[in-house]
Amino acid sequence: MIEKIVEGVYWIAGKDKFLPDSHVYLIGLPDSGDFTMVDCGLMEMGSYKLSEIESIGVKPKDIKRVILTHTHLDHIGCLPEIIEAIPGIEIWVHEDEGRYMERGDDRVIWGNKMFESMIRAQMTIPKNYFDLKPHRKLKGGEVLDLGGVTFKVIHIPGHSIGSIGLLNEEHRLFISGDTIYADGAIGRYDLFTADASQMKSSLELIANLGIDYLLPCHNRVVKGAAGPMIRKTVTNWAPLLS
Ligand SMILES: [Zn+2]
Ligand SMILES: [Zn+2]
Repeated sequence: MIEKIVEGVYWIAGKDKFLPDSHVYLIGLPDSGDFTMVDCGLMEMGSYKLSEIESIGVKPKDIKRVILTHTHLDHIGCLPEIIEAIPGIEIWVHEDEGRYMERGDDRVIWGNKMFESMIRAQMTIPKNYFDLKPHRKLKGGEVLDLGGVTFKVIHIPGHSIGSIGLLNEEHRLFISGDTIYADGAIGRYDLFTADASQMKSSLELIANLGIDYLLPCHNRVVKGAAGPMIRKTVTNWAPLLS
């Protein structure tokens, strides 16, 4: 199912398997011919998402870039499939994780050794599968025109070092990656490059953005009036993140 959240922002829900599969957000006004995917999802979970996107009349060749909220496996696992389906598509990622990608260092992707061996035991992942190079490294603070919809990049480290959120001020809409979810949950802060005190600062920053629409990359999306829920989540977690 692909669902329109506001004009130019669509949600394609992830389909969790033995691991979670991230949601994908598609950004771009219908006639722009310039679309952006935010995150991709787990291995083998790319083609249904592209079919959903095509079902609203968007041609894959008009998807110009993937912006990664961060580079965990459940968000970039199917990126090689997406690149195969859409040659020339660009990868945009925060510089702090882009550097790991450029070095071919996949420790952020796996999160920890235990996950890596568990997943490798269940599926064959070719060598160099994640040999991906970013086309643009983001710093945070950039204001992007994505097919006629404006988003500001917000660096929110804590879940991972290069986690970003995307803020659309017109609709008070925030794509939060795995940093904060609906219903009181936040992302893990025990994986490689995660940091509890950075998580605390990033959550506080998010609570002060004045968000109405909260679009996380897992579980439920909140379509309006998300502010009080976010504030409560941040207040509840703060003592545990010191
Ligand atoms: Zn994650
Ligand atoms: Zn995730």
